Amino acid sequence: MIEPANHADNVVQLRPQPRIYARSEHTISRKYVSESALKVLYRLDKAGFQAYLVGGSVRDLLLGREPKDFDIATNALPEQVRELFRNCRLIGRRFRLAHVQFGREIIEVATFRAQHDGDTEGAAMTDQGRILRDNVYGTLEEDVWRRDFTVNALYYNIADFSIVDHVGGVEDLRAGRMRLIGDPDKRYREDPVRMLRAVRFATKLGFLLDQATLAAIPRLRHLLEDIAPARLFDEMLKLFQGGVGLQTFEALRHHGLFHCLFPLTDEHLDGGEGEFAQRLIAAALRSTDARVADNKPITPAFLLAALLWHVVEEEAEKLVANGVTAHDALGFAADTVISKQIARIAMPRRFSNVTREIWALQSKLEKPTPKRIPRALEHPRFRAAYDFLVLRAEAGDPVQEEATFWTEFLAAEEGDARETLLQNLRSQPEGARTGVSAKRRRRRRRRPPAVAE
Ligand code: ATP
Ligand code: MG
Repeated sequence: MIEPANHADNVVQLRPQPRIYARSEHTISRKYVSESALKVLYRLDKAGFQAYLVGGSVRDLLLGREPKDFDIATNALPEQVRELFRNCRLIGRRFRLAHVQFGREIIEVATFRAQHDGDTEGAAMTDQGRILRDNVYGTLEEDVWRRDFTVNALYYNIADFSIVDHVGGVEDLRAGRMRLIGDPDKRYREDPVRMLRAVRFATKLGFLLDQATLAAIPRLRHLLEDIAPARLFDEMLKLFQGGVGLQTFEALRHHGLFHCLFPLTDEHLDGGEGEFAQRLIAAALRSTDARVADNKPITPAFLLAALLWHVVEEEAEKLVANGVTAHDALGFAADTVISKQIARIAMPRRFSNVTREIWALQSKLEKPTPKRIPRALEHPRFRAAYDFLVLRAEAGDPVQEEATFWTEFLAAEEGDARETLLQNLRSQPEGARTGVSAKRRRRRRRRPPAVAE
């Protein structure tokens, strides 16, 4: 929803009075709030504190979606929260938060915080507009200001089951609109990750970015380069493993934000061979989305393998042109590309090692021989590497026949059926069967046939 209003008029300000939606005016029912969250809310309330459900849970409940987690805001200080709950830990340096644990579920309880411009003592310390420290306690009204989007700043009051809305969040929810609270330039400068969050929520919820929230992104997206790589890794998981990874990837590209996360990939996508990489990444994200929908396990190692594969291949080809053997080239290229990538997004080694193994296994799976097959099958990453080979084939890499061979081999019963497939393989000299050279010549890539709508 693009609003014609000019920039200054479009800035969301706190209303003089909040709009209170009574229990009869909204659809949130306690039936859909986790029991643990209700326990925390009730106990805070009974102890005389204010207690609200806030953030994504209120937003999602109003939309009829299942919240990922339940966050609580209160005027009780962290130490006071700890006194109320035995199963409570205080965490965080930048923000002091209470975590109340119920089995595997953690309810996060945050004390209302004020966020001023650094003119009051102890207020948020900033560095070029970026928030470094932010632990000044405040009131609910003040707490609204530190939240990012209007739809994330709704408070569900356990005392009377009403919703407190200071910024028109309910109207924005109904209109399907993501709007930053306050001046977008200032809010993005304080925390550039909000640009990624804007795109993530808009995609997940099917919302549109409000004009001012949208317009500031091209001006400020370069600020994401200063974000700590470890934080970007967390964000990356939310962006690509939240169930709508493919759409999110496309939206990030559209807004010029993907470059900040995967600069090498982004540059490759814009080059002449980009469409093959685009297709592989799309296939990997589509399969991740399907697995998320089915509650199947997923690993960032697999996505990383797809996101960087063509960059690594290109790098390896350069090395081969300079006389490095094909076998060594892939390993060297993987080292170079991964070390450049982790400077931007801190991918823990336990994942990047798996990514390397998936890549290294490709050349083995591309040349199945009776001797290599049993060894490949025993490799702990065989399944991931096979899935990756199939995606590559789908995306137009010249490995269709090899992928089909493995698919048939795996589908065949152990014993006779597999033995027949192996016999066929034995009767053909290596390479003749598929006619595909190990060099994976780029011009052999084929566009997959167009699928009829
Ligand atoms: P989800 O958990 O579904 O991804 P969420 O809205 O709950 O979405 P969280 O990251 O869990 O997002 O944060 C909870 C709330 O904290 C948000 O709704 C928002 O009000 C506030 N918040 C989180 N991160 C930021 C941020 N970077 N800037 C401002 N407010 C934030
Ligand atoms: Mg949340």
